[in-house]
Amino acid sequence: MAEAACEHLASIHQVRRPKRRECEECVKTGSWWVHLRTCQSCGATLCCDSSPNRHATGHAHATGHPVVASAEPSERWLYCYPDDAMAEY
Ligand SMILES: [Zn+2]
Ligand SMILES: [Zn+2]
Ligand SMILES: [Zn+2]
Repeated sequence: MAEAACEHLASIHQVRRPKRRECEECVKTGSWWVHLRTCQSCGATLCCDSSPNRHATGHAHATGHPVVASAEPSERWLYCYPDDAMAEY
């Protein structure tokens, strides 16, 4: 991994991939999403900020889980909310 800009990113040694390719919260309400992110603290897969419900950001703020990974198969990046930092892996 490239040199991380924050300690949260530096502490990720094994990136968690999505268990299912759907937003856990949106499927409960029948909503839709654009892209998905997987929380690196608990493994929850939730929708991105381009989605109407922005569940990944809401989850990060509600739980304090700092880092998500893109759940898109072709994308390999991590993002830290509190530090607004990204890293490829
Ligand atoms: Zn951080
Ligand atoms: Zn969602
Ligand atoms: Zn989480």
